[in-house]
Amino acid sequence: MAYNEHTSCPCGSKKSYINCCKVFHSGKNPETALELMKSRFTAFVVGNIDYIINTTHEDNIEYSRDKSKWREDIEDVVNSTDFNTLEIIEFVDGVDEAYVTFRLGLKQKGLDVSFTERSKFLKIDGKWLYRSGEFLDD
Ligand SMILES: [Zn+2]
Repeated sequence: MAYNEHTSCPCGSKKSYINCCKVFHSGKNPETALELMKSRFTAFVVGNIDYIINTTHEDNIEYSRDKSKWREDIEDVVNSTDFNTLEIIEFVDGVDEAYVTFRLGLKQKGLDVSFTERSKFLKIDGKWLYRSGEFLDD
């Protein structure tokens, strides 16, 4: 996908990418799980695979100690998927555990593969991480 830092951020904030999720991609810690969730979505759009790996909790089902294999898997998803829309449905904040329910508008090879997920995030050593996700019926 052609991408420009000054166009609006893929997460839907209406700010430019450079003033939004790029701040987190460049090393700032998201203050909330919601910021983390949005910046992970944007990482899929812009293909920032390191960010996806670095913000995944090691107990997540996707987590792999084989980083090069994991990286290839994420690359496959990034290259085969159009990440079209992110709609935040609910955000339940907490001190070290938080939940974000969201709907992703996705297409793969022209097919609609959109889904709704409730994600769990844990704050470990001051850093929010993606712990797990549960698919919800539409
Ligand atoms: Zn953003």
